[in-house]
Amino acid sequence: MTELNEDDIFSVDSGTLEAIWKEQSEICDSISNHGDYGAFEKYLEEENLKTEFENSFNAKNRIVCIDEGTPDGVHVAGSGILYILDEEKDTYDWDDFNKGLETAAEITRQADKLYGIDEITYHDYCGAAGIAFGKMNPSIKSHFNDSDDFGKYFSEKLAEILGKKAIHIPLERPEDKHYAQCVIYDTTGHYNAQGNEGIPQGLIISRKYLTEEQALNETEVALDIATGPHGPGVDKIRLIIIGNPYDNNLDDMKNELSIILPKYADSVIVDGIMAPEGNRAYI
Ligand SMILES: [Zn+2]
Repeated sequence: MTELNEDDIFSVDSGTLEAIWKEQSEICDSISNHGDYGAFEKYLEEENLKTEFENSFNAKNRIVCIDEGTPDGVHVAGSGILYILDEEKDTYDWDDFNKGLETAAEITRQADKLYGIDEITYHDYCGAAGIAFGKMNPSIKSHFNDSDDFGKYFSEKLAEILGKKAIHIPLERPEDKHYAQCVIYDTTGHYNAQGNEGIPQGLIISRKYLTEEQALNETEVALDIATGPHGPGVDKIRLIIIGNPYDNNLDDMKNELSIILPKYADSVIVDGIMAPEGNRAYI
């Protein structure tokens, strides 16, 4: 596993990116060699990686973005900033900001109750903050230097409401390029592949703490990124559902996701695997 320097704002130079991209590409190609749905499980068996997979459910107790450059935590796009845009409008004002903040707070409370959350993070070059900032009323925009400044403010306000800390974390990829070739639909809310050799990283949706509608919206954001011009540049993105053995929910999740998939035609492969039962119940 390639080590990254966590002190930098974005800690990945082009050589390191190339190495990570190649590593992820080899993992995803090996999984694809085992077919479509169910391939990840077969890959783990054949490559003897079941222990590494079992060790991939130890995410930190913090809210991070869905971006693969912000691993290790409970994932919500821009720490919830897109919920400012819940209603269809041309531009958004402080009322919308506060409503979005309250929705993000509800999601975080849910994650806090079920898992425990200590920190709300924010990061530079956040696409979600960029989308929300772009739609804010000009009088609001004028208060901020740029979209990252706006994203920081949102996370600080969210942390304030919840009595948590807001912290800046480095983006572990270059500004304009994603390396992940998987999107992970995680119904355990614990998934973190970082540091586990052979286990795919990805843009991650922490389905466990979201409503169906919220989770599908976030998945569309992730798939739009992964299949778009800043994506990894591969023909197919693997959408891996991590099922919760205590809910037996793989089929339900597969059905749920089928609503948004027609938009991506042949560019997305759906896969599914049950999380290990282990010591930690994903309750
Ligand atoms: Zn982000």
